[in-house]
Amino acid sequence: MKKIDLHTHSTASDGTFTPTELVEYAAKKQLAAIALTDHDTLDGVKEAQGAGEKFGVYVISGAEFSTVYEKISLHIVGLFLPENSAEIKSRLAYMKNARLTRNVKMLQNLKNEGVDITLEELKKNFPDSVISRAHIAQLMQIKGYVGSKNEAFDRYIGNRCKAYVEKESLTPEETIALIKKAGGVSVWAHPVLCKLSDKNLEMMVKRLKGYGLDAIEAYYPTYTPSESKYIKTLAQKYALCLSGGSDFHGSIKPGLDLGTGYGKLEVPYNLLEELEKLRG
Ligand code: AMP
Ligand code: MN
Ligand code: MN
Ligand code: MN
Repeated sequence: MKKIDLHTHSTASDGTFTPTELVEYAAKKQLAAIALTDHDTLDGVKEAQGAGEKFGVYVISGAEFSTVYEKISLHIVGLFLPENSAEIKSRLAYMKNARLTRNVKMLQNLKNEGVDITLEELKKNFPDSVISRAHIAQLMQIKGYVGSKNEAFDRYIGNRCKAYVEKESLTPEETIALIKKAGGVSVWAHPVLCKLSDKNLEMMVKRLKGYGLDAIEAYYPTYTPSESKYIKTLAQKYALCLSGGSDFHGSIKPGLDLGTGYGKLEVPYNLLEELEKLRG
């Protein structure tokens, strides 16, 4: 059976494999297709698709958007996103700029806490990346302010810590509409990670379906078999397609592998065929 992975990250966001390395690795792992779904950017897609032709892997252009609905953080993956859509481009540019403003504020807060990190240093260490807290944590470790990235989150930049600044986010409604308008396919990523009760999870599925959601991730490395089964039941009830992937980030998520997750993940190729039918 042909295998795929529809949720992956590269150095264009917070992954540690370059787009080319990621695709070469996908070929080595005998994956027929992967979607590159970096946070808030399509910057790695062109390189990944070039590598896809070289290594014989079908590379789908994607991005993972951070959205918020009444303080609940929801990640929406867009698949088959055209790089030349004016709306997508302008929205991603806006997000990039909002991140820059936020990073400047967080660096100032860190300075007040005695941690001296500059934007220039971040750019030098992560030249092609959309800079997130993951990069700030990494640099704090490199510079010896913390012993681990987790410590950086626990003491400084975690959601309730002094240096934390909230990220500007779209609503899921805007995001799903944006993806649809560009001819893409929208997927609610790792719904189980939202830790909603069964009732609230189902209400959210119903709400997102109302906004035009196409699919939901039923295959994800941390799911138990019963969680996966429950998501499939909800998908059937609300006429949603299934999607899934490893959420591979390279070495920043130790033990989590491309395609296979923590060892048991298997995303069948036929999901991709169903998702492709929904392209605009
Ligand atoms: P941001 O989008 O800038 O808020 O950063 C979010 C990223 O930081 C996520 O994609 C994770 O890679 C990383 N992250 C968030 N929370 C933690 C944590 N507690 N420990 C380690 N990494 C984290
Ligand atoms: Mn990430
Ligand atoms: Mn996510
Ligand atoms: Mn992800």
